[in-house]
This record gives sequence, C-alpha cells and structure tokens, in this order.
Amino acid sequence: MFLDFRVRGNDKNGLILTFKGSSIYDQDEIMSTRTKIEWTEQTWNPSTGCTKVSPGCKHCYAEIMARRLKAMGVKGYENGFSLALHPNRLNEPLARRKPTMYFVNSMSDLFHEDIPDDFIGQVFEVMKQTPHHTFQVLTKRAERMACFLKPREVPDNAWIGVTVENIKGQCDANNTFFFFKQWGAWGVDGKRRSKKANGRLFVGHTWDGMPPLNGLLPTTC
Ligand code: SF4
Repeated sequence: MFLDFRVRGNDKNGLILTFKGSSIYDQDEIMSTRTKIEWTEQTWNPSTGCTKVSPGCKHCYAEIMARRLKAMGVKGYENGFSLALHPNRLNEPLARRKPTMYFVNSMSDLFHEDIPDDFIGQVFEVMKQTPHHTFQVLTKRAERMACFLKPREVPDNAWIGVTVENIKGQCDANNTFFFFKQWGAWGVDGKRRSKKANGRLFVGHTWDGMPPLNGLLPTTC
C-alpha cells in the first residue's frame, strides 16, 4: 500500500521483488505470499486494484506493481490496477495451520468504495475463523472503515490501522485539537538520537492541544 518496490526477476518460487532494499519473493499470482517486509510475514489479497483517494496515493507502489505484473502476464492482474475481487482467495488463511502475521490487501484497499460490505464481511469472517493468525488491515479510507466496523465486533486477531497524512492540516480543517508528543528515536531530519535530543518541536512550535474531558468526537455514518 505504501512501500517502494522493484521487480528483480524470477526464481523457482516465483517473482522476486524488492521492498526498500530487502527482497521478498512472491508466488505466481501475488495472492497469499511469503514476504520479508519487516512488520509482517505473509500478504493476503482477496481484492486487488484501487483508485487514488489522497495526495499520499501519488506514488502508490501497488499501482506500479500491478501494471508491471499485468505486463508480465501474471494471473489476477489482467486488468492491471483496476479493482478486482478474488473470492477464490478468501479461504487461503484457513488452509494455513502455522500461526502467521498477514498483511491484508497489500495490493488494494479493503475499504475501497466499490468493495461491497458483504465481501468485506467475508474477509473478516475468515479472520474470525482463524484465531491462530494475526491480520494487519491498513486503509486510507478511515471513514468507511469506521462505519463498517461500528456495528460489528472486530476479531481480536485483527490489527486495524489507518494511514495518516498531513495530520496537523487535518486537525485544523476539522477544528480538532492537535497534540504533538515527540519525535521519538528518529528526528525530523531522519537522524537517530535520544528522544530527548530529538525533542518535540513540529514546524518550529510545540503543540499541546487537548480536548476537554467530555469532548468525545462525533461519528457520522
Ligand atoms: S489507497 Fe489505493 S491508490 Fe492509495 S496508496 Fe493505497 S492502494 Fe494505492
């Protein structure tokens, strides 16, 4: 969803892809695949393809990859980066006994507006049926995800995340309090230091906005 990659070639296991300098290899359809992405073990793509939804989509790696895979004639990418559902892939985690960390839809966005609720529900049903696995679900469509999940129970083995862009600007636009805690181990210049040395200045200021204790954010679905 947001990593740089390049195709390096083929080996007996299928395509070799490079993510930020580390290689992953993929099977012949880029559906359920082993990966060397540091924060996951396997990708699972019950849908592929997407449409751009924010400035952060500008350099979407999935789009570049999908087009290359189409050009290479890889099954499942006949339509390149156009959204496609793959119900035949839904049961893949059920067949895997070894507890595995799955990155769900590395080649799509599960909460894309053209993916029916029923299909997303089937994806979550598979997660429920495979409590020995862990599923990482990341989306740029936070509102739809919130609306979808609100009346439902999220399985304990699902890690839900959203991609946040221009958070200060979003807070301003929505009249929301902005609190910037700290840079952490990596400073604004990309250098590693102690958290204290990196400080908590953001665009030259400290930001300590906090909502009142009874200030729960409204949700609209
Ligand atoms: S939301 Fe879709 S287009 Fe945007 S980065 Fe993610 S996969 Fe790419």
